[in-house]
Amino acid sequence: MKIIGENFIGDKISAKGNSVFSTFNPKKNVSTPWQFTEATPNEIEEACFLAYQAFKIYRKTKDNERALFLREIANEIDTIKELEEVYCTESGLSKERFQTEKERTLFQLRMFADFLESRNWRNEIIDNQAPILKKTYIPLGPVAVFGASNFPLAYSTAGGDTTSALAAGCPVIVKSHPMHAATNDLVAQAILRAVKNTNMPDGVFSSLNGISHQTGQALVLHRHIKAVGFTGSVQGGRALMDLAAGREEPIPVFAEMGSVNPVVISNLSLERKALFWAKAYADSISQGGGQFCTSPGIIIAEKNKHFDNFARLLSTELNKIETACMLHPNIKKQFINKRDHIIALDSVRSLSKIKKEHDNYIQQSVVIVDGNSFLKNKALREEVFGSFCVLVECKDQYEILDIIESLEGQLTGTIIAEKEEDIQDLKEVFQYRVGRLILNGVSTGVRVCKAMHHGGPYPASSTPFFTAVGTDAIKRWIRPITYQNFY
Ligand code: NAP
Repeated sequence: MKIIGENFIGDKISAKGNSVFSTFNPKKNVSTPWQFTEATPNEIEEACFLAYQAFKIYRKTKDNERALFLREIANEIDTIKELEEVYCTESGLSKERFQTEKERTLFQLRMFADFLESRNWRNEIIDNQAPILKKTYIPLGPVAVFGASNFPLAYSTAGGDTTSALAAGCPVIVKSHPMHAATNDLVAQAILRAVKNTNMPDGVFSSLNGISHQTGQALVLHRHIKAVGFTGSVQGGRALMDLAAGREEPIPVFAEMGSVNPVVISNLSLERKALFWAKAYADSISQGGGQFCTSPGIIIAEKNKHFDNFARLLSTELNKIETACMLHPNIKKQFINKRDHIIALDSVRSLSKIKKEHDNYIQQSVVIVDGNSFLKNKALREEVFGSFCVLVECKDQYEILDIIESLEGQLTGTIIAEKEEDIQDLKEVFQYRVGRLILNGVSTGVRVCKAMHHGGPYPASSTPFFTAVGTDAIKRWIRPITYQNFY
């Protein structure tokens, strides 16, 4: 399959603009050979109008028709031979990671297809007293989805946001992530073939390229766009939330943003299982170069010889792991700036000896700071996107609770404790800061299923009510309505 490099406005390809860009191969540190043309205001207008027209037809499709459409998208993606090479080239991610992410993407599409065919997925309620009331849900309208840099497949063109919005009955316009425009191009073509094969309306899916913020901003401001799905930085997500709130008709932005995923380890766990947890956390911190929204960025415990031992073991384990290639030079630059700012603080002691980090590669590292200094410095509580972890040594359990209370909203929080320990106070405080509370595990690895909640209080996500993963993700794109006296 050929990479086209144009915008997909329904089934039409279009490249009317003058702004052209390429993606980047972070492993070789060179631009890729593929070129993409940024969408013009007219092309954005065309895609939005087409989505608006398509909505009038698509919203009337039956659940089983949309299920067929989602399955067809999965089948079409599965046939793209070039996908692995293109994905690995412009992300620096491994073939194994490609395979996992592709399987996750196909699984999500098929899971939503099954969900649409399950009984009463809308949870309709009928009250037969006079007047007869029926409460149900209807789709919101065209949705703009921003491709994520850290998941070129599973949270991008045919990822969780697009899949759940299409399942809900909403047309989707994807703003491709500028680092993964070629992966987007191949997947967009697959979706458009599925549109044709299943007789879905033209305009139910479009994909636009953009290297400046203008494409995304114009989409969010467009009168025909009724909701937004986003995964990325707090700055980016917040900018889009503010834009959407300032519209004449404000619309919801479902943004999944930064998280430091704090971990608290008990004294007894450190005494009994320091090596086990050091290995598990070295693995989790270094997974995917730390470029996961659930990567553990803070580990908190009481200051004592067991925590010292754990800190030493963790840094030894991290030192054994090869340097990681970051997704893009900009992401590496942001990582180095934030990490080095923290390492330079007087109160912070680095436990890793940072060697030379060539091109786009970074070394996994860990620092330690006392609880009081941690509480005083906001920079220590912010996401450093990459393999980096701050160990916080506290004077007692009360300081641990103060620290948890001082944190902003998080996607996850983790408690490591032995069975006989009382963790009720910690659980009580922790649950009000996170969307998922884990006992004796690691936060990386988000299972796609009905029971998953992947969200949390701001800034983990723009609204704490909804999940970006699992079947409940569909609830972001539908709204309640009650029909009275209809029979
Ligand atoms: P990003 O800068 O937030 O960008 C994500 C998408 O949003 C891009 O498509 C970008 O489009 C768009 N965007 C960002 N700011 C915008 C604005 N003000 N107006 C309109 N559109 C805007 O994230 P990124 O490029 O993926 O990575 C940068 C940093 O984000 C990372 O270093 C990391 O700190 C963080 N990040 C966090 C997570 C997480 O899950 N927690 C995931 C990924 C990234 P254009 O650039 O084309 O305008």
